[in-house]
Amino acid sequence: MPRTVVVTGSTSGIGLGIAKAFAADGANVVINGFGPLDEIEAITKELSSHGGRSIYHGADMTKPDEIADLMATAAREFGMVDVLVNNAGIQHVSPVEDFPTDKWDRIIAINLTSSFHTMKAAIPAMKAKKAGRIINVASAHALVASPFKAAYVAAKHGIMGLTKSAALELAEFGVTVNAICPGYVLTPLVEQQIPDTAKARGISEEQVKTDVMLRLQATKEFVAIDEVAAIALFLASDAAKQITGTHISVDGGWTAQ
Ligand code: NAD
Repeated sequence: MPRTVVVTGSTSGIGLGIAKAFAADGANVVINGFGPLDEIEAITKELSSHGGRSIYHGADMTKPDEIADLMATAAREFGMVDVLVNNAGIQHVSPVEDFPTDKWDRIIAINLTSSFHTMKAAIPAMKAKKAGRIINVASAHALVASPFKAAYVAAKHGIMGLTKSAALELAEFGVTVNAICPGYVLTPLVEQQIPDTAKARGISEEQVKTDVMLRLQATKEFVAIDEVAAIALFLASDAAKQITGTHISVDGGWTAQ
């Protein structure tokens, strides 16, 4: 029986990479996120070509009732959710005093609270089966801060707390809960913040890449999407069953400093 994996925010970037890795491993994959429907259809078709089946659910991660429907749909279609990957995330770059309150609320809702809702829905069946994997795509910003990213850093530090607390609750039920903490990965989320960061810091867009993003990434290279996806696959494997309540960094040495 193939495993069933829900990946939030998987129509693009890291989430899509994780969805592809699990599909290639034979899993059923429920994808979620925004984007043109024809492109999403092409994604589910490709993900369904490895043995498992893939469906799409368009739940908006700011809306608890839509998140509940995503999780209920996954359980109804496939029996249960074996692996939950909380990946959906957005960014906004601004000094605290100018930070729009609606952006703060949106970032906390998508990057933190949505994971509480998906976990709340997935945990009872995982506990009953005494098996399950919850993987939260956090960030190096779950461990250290940068200026002008107050909401993102707060949400990502929060997801680390949620990860640890849930891991302790589930440790004796065969369910692990962990976070992945990537450094900078060149995805649409990162590309979009380059102009705003340039403006906030008064520097060129090229300088944002070299002097801001890769300044602390000791390898001076962006992390690849596949490198993050490989960690998700590992955390969902039997070999990782004693890893819980922690994070794996994939940040080119950023948080070693
Ligand atoms: P991305 O912009 O490429 O993808 C984000 C995904 O989330 C998309 O599928 C988008 O449609 C979806 N999404 C956005 N708002 C949503 C909402 N309200 N409801 C449902 N889906 C929504 O971004 P990415 O860089 O791949 O980021 C994915 C995750 O990785 C995020 O949690 C991000 O914080 C984290 N991360 C990214 C980097 C990086 O450098 N790219 C580094 C560390 C952590």
